[in-house]
Amino acid sequence: MSKKLNGTVIVTYRCNARCNMCNRYKAPSDPKDEISIETIRKLPEMYFTNITGGEPFIREDIKDIVRELRKKSDRIVISTNGFFTDKIIDLCKEFPDIGIRISIEGLEQTNNEIRGLPDGFNRGYTTLKKLREMGMKDVGFGMTVQDRNAPDLCELYKLSDELGMEFATASLHNSFYFVEAKNIIHDRPMVAEHFEELVNRLLKSNSPKKWFRAYFNHGLINYIYGQKRLLPCDMSFDTFFIDPYGDVMPCNGTKDKEVMGNLNTMSWDELWNSEQAERVRKVVRNCDRNCWMIGSVSPAMHKYIWVPAWWVIRHKFKALFMKKPYSMYELKVVRDYRDGKVTKEELDKCSTCDMCAVANDGLKK
Ligand code: SF4
Ligand code: SF4
Repeated sequence: MSKKLNGTVIVTYRCNARCNMCNRYKAPSDPKDEISIETIRKLPEMYFTNITGGEPFIREDIKDIVRELRKKSDRIVISTNGFFTDKIIDLCKEFPDIGIRISIEGLEQTNNEIRGLPDGFNRGYTTLKKLREMGMKDVGFGMTVQDRNAPDLCELYKLSDELGMEFATASLHNSFYFVEAKNIIHDRPMVAEHFEELVNRLLKSNSPKKWFRAYFNHGLINYIYGQKRLLPCDMSFDTFFIDPYGDVMPCNGTKDKEVMGNLNTMSWDELWNSEQAERVRKVVRNCDRNCWMIGSVSPAMHKYIWVPAWWVIRHKFKALFMKKPYSMYELKVVRDYRDGKVTKEELDKCSTCDMCAVANDGLKK
């Protein structure tokens, strides 16, 4: 039996939001081109599937998609902006064991400014609370941290903790997927300080899952300072993304779209073992974009478990004696910036931000 994979299915590039860090809504997919149930049936067995967009609940047939993916995946998590409350609730009634992550970009005002959705915060928050009331276990917030919302980070964590929900974080990335090449953190120490506080709160909890999440957030500080990833990136080896056009890709972090093959026209085995897929794997091996998104880090954390585990052990030990077991100055680059050994301009150059570049929108040619 072949090994189960980790897959992300981008069911649409249509989106009802207008986020300031993503132009995907300006380059939507045409519904008639979007991935069909027949193509979804060709996907391999997966131990984890993320369904995302665009906004996945824009698809009228989202239930049929989940029904199909349920047959081949041990665990499904849907990432959504949470606007279509009734559709989300309706889906979860049929599939109470799936996970739902609602992106909330800060407290009410900050979220609504960043997301550009009328009443977006209340819609998302209401959806989360309703899911909780229904008894859904795997629900949570997702937040993409930038200068504007960093001060809300720990408040939002507190809110999710009070509701007993998961709290997933990310920071700004540039790629064809976001149709964006200008995302950059301007005030790195300010943003890092908020992450530092979050790391310490997570370390103090009694949940091993949160301790590993603390490590992930430590990696985010490293990422926003433009440093080498803390763990290797093995995307396209046992992980894949598939876009609305049936193109299978290693990830969503590349500048231009990298295609391993098209599942509309090929079988999975043919595609996964093709020369083209091997060529993309070589690109991944030499990739220097150093993304730190959960999609590529979670498989790496499982694969190289001793790296985060050792980090957790050291910090949990420190937590026995110290109020603040973690300091962002553990990272050399953070110390060097504080001490004036590296300038803001030098760090800006390490980012994936191409100030004047036009990002490829990954649309069907
Ligand atoms: S980040 Fe997500 S919700 Fe926001 S515009 Fe992009 S696809 Fe839509
Ligand atoms: S670092 Fe990994 S996830 Fe990021 S673009 Fe490169 S291959 Fe993709």
